[in-house]
Amino acid sequence: MQVIKTVPALRQALQQARQAGQAVGFVPTMGCLHAGHLALVQQARQENACVVVSIFVNPTQFGPQEDFAKYPRTFEDDCVQCQAAGAAIVFAPTTEDFYAPQSSTWVEETFVTQGLCGTFRPGHFRGVTTVVAMLFNVVQPDAAYFGRKDLQQLGAIKRMVRDLHFPVKIVAHDTVREANGVAMSSRNRYLSPTEFQQATAIPAALQAAQQAVQHGEREATKVQQLALARLQQEPALQLQYCEVIDADTLRPVTTITPGHTAVAIACYLGKTRLIDNCLL
Ligand code: AMP
Repeated sequence: MQVIKTVPALRQALQQARQAGQAVGFVPTMGCLHAGHLALVQQARQENACVVVSIFVNPTQFGPQEDFAKYPRTFEDDCVQCQAAGAAIVFAPTTEDFYAPQSSTWVEETFVTQGLCGTFRPGHFRGVTTVVAMLFNVVQPDAAYFGRKDLQQLGAIKRMVRDLHFPVKIVAHDTVREANGVAMSSRNRYLSPTEFQQATAIPAALQAAQQAVQHGEREATKVQQLALARLQQEPALQLQYCEVIDADTLRPVTTITPGHTAVAIACYLGKTRLIDNCLL
């Protein structure tokens, strides 16, 4: 596995892979890798001879009050895990090398990024789509792998690829969970053992919503109320939203269509912001 820091070196390495006829699979990450990330790398490896993992804590997707400086960085360990999962290349540019000085160009999706996290993290998705567009331009992957845990991000990337004709297939991977049901996240390491236990109210609320739909409930407000009631059993959670939405448009719905409707939750536990969702 090669660890590459600059765009010209990456382009050169990828040219060789392409000349050898290898399909290129790409997994963009911010590092601090866990089994959720590695599941994406493994799937990419099953489907592509050459897998590129980017590790880049992207400053433009963090708000001024957010945890950019504190975001956990575990680069050496990440590289060991990428190699074990079958990556051919880790691309880890510095901010100064990747963003041009006074960079002034943005890529912004304006439909699915409205509402949900878009309301609470202004500018976040603009930073995500911009950096992913930049990464797609340098990696030029055949396929790119994203987790369903970040459902609104996945929706924004799919729209961007569609609208701007990026020649890349977007592959979604199911959310990988801890043994206690909490969605894996790099930010879980901020949680105290007590908070980690309290966080189980989130998957429990998702499960309550899923069970109601399995038992025939189709009214979104009823399902939302059930999920909210379960969240309220954990007073440590400070809820941002709990919404029943169309899984593609991310817009709230009134009637549930099984397989096409999702429930999405965001909350704070202490200083840590957690998100999760599931299909109903
Ligand atoms: P991040 O490093 O948080 O930017 O995440 C990089 C990629 O890994 C994104 O596509 C995430 O959706 C995905 N990801 C993060 N956590 C999980 C998880 N628990 N299960 C599946 N994919 C995940």
